[in-house]
Amino acid sequence: MLTIAAERVWTPETALEPGWLTLEQDRIVAVGAGSPPPGAVRAESGLTLVPGLVDIHIHGSFGHDVQQGVEALAAMAAGLPRFGCTAYLPTTIPAPWEETLQTVARLADAAARPRPGARPVGLHLEGPFLNPVFRGMHLPANLVMPNAELARALLEAGGGLVRTVTLAPELPGGMDAVRVLAAAGVLVGMAHSDASYEAALAALGAGARHVTHCYSAMRGLHHRDPGLVGAALDLDGLSAEVIADGIHVHHPALRVLWRAKGWRRLALITDAMPGAAAPDGVYRFGGQDVHVGDGRARLADGTLAGSVLTLDAAMRTMVAAGVPPREAVGMATRTPATLLGLRDQGHLEPGARADIVALDPEFRVAWTMIGGEVFYRRPGAA
Ligand SMILES: [Zn+2]
Repeated sequence: MLTIAAERVWTPETALEPGWLTLEQDRIVAVGAGSPPPGAVRAESGLTLVPGLVDIHIHGSFGHDVQQGVEALAAMAAGLPRFGCTAYLPTTIPAPWEETLQTVARLADAAARPRPGARPVGLHLEGPFLNPVFRGMHLPANLVMPNAELARALLEAGGGLVRTVTLAPELPGGMDAVRVLAAAGVLVGMAHSDASYEAALAALGAGARHVTHCYSAMRGLHHRDPGLVGAALDLDGLSAEVIADGIHVHHPALRVLWRAKGWRRLALITDAMPGAAAPDGVYRFGGQDVHVGDGRARLADGTLAGSVLTLDAAMRTMVAAGVPPREAVGMATRTPATLLGLRDQGHLEPGARADIVALDPEFRVAWTMIGGEVFYRRPGAA
């Protein structure tokens, strides 16, 4: 048993200031406000304890692309805790169809093998059922028209580990794919999509529940044609995720989305590509050269190709945009965990995994604990 006391503990539903947590092996067994039980270890002054961050949309970091499989997942496991991330969904992008099936199968196999550090908690397949009109960086030749049979093939390749699929529901066969995926318990997200408001509403009826990297690569909000962005803002049945790097989405647009969804329905994601948390330069991603520099990842024609964001920085962007800090934490912890149905993650309540992050007053990571063990400690942090 270990009790840690801190000036602030954000569960994140409640603020315990001061607060304490008692851990037994890899679980939190007690939580309280005020004076801790005798024998508590005190966290350094100024630190706020929050749950481990959960990234439901990340393609790579540290020079690695998750599509490489085992080696990339090992790098992510070791590196992501530096940014407070303790659980994530390795996220694929469109590749030739047979290669996609092989990649999904290989990733599912790699994800199922536990290793110390940040844990893959399933897979997110971004595509290949995407609309060429809003393809973004994805190569047209790799996009596939959806149908029920192909959706089943993806699920089968993933061996039960596919948690999220991003698609364009308005494509012919799109609604059939939505129904198959939703029936299998997959969180169906919409993006790279030209869906009208009406099409998004129909997709909601078919089981789509989420809008992937909201605003990016989708029909925007026009007052006579509210589009997928309008649907995301308007429909309570849809959750959303957003790339809060301050580059993909302008601060006022971040605030509008947060006001419309509330923190419980809006997840922060990184959409990070291999050049995240790595030196500037040229990285191979999605079969193309992507130039990383100036905090951006771009194709030669300037198209944004993922981000170089880390999830702790996404929280800082939201705070800079005027969102209350505890809600920013919620959007990187409780909300994404809840979207994936992970009941024992994303919060600091009895029964939860002891995945705990200590943030300093600038909202930077001082240390990260995974399963009750300190896995990362910033040099100089106590
Ligand atoms: Zn992405």
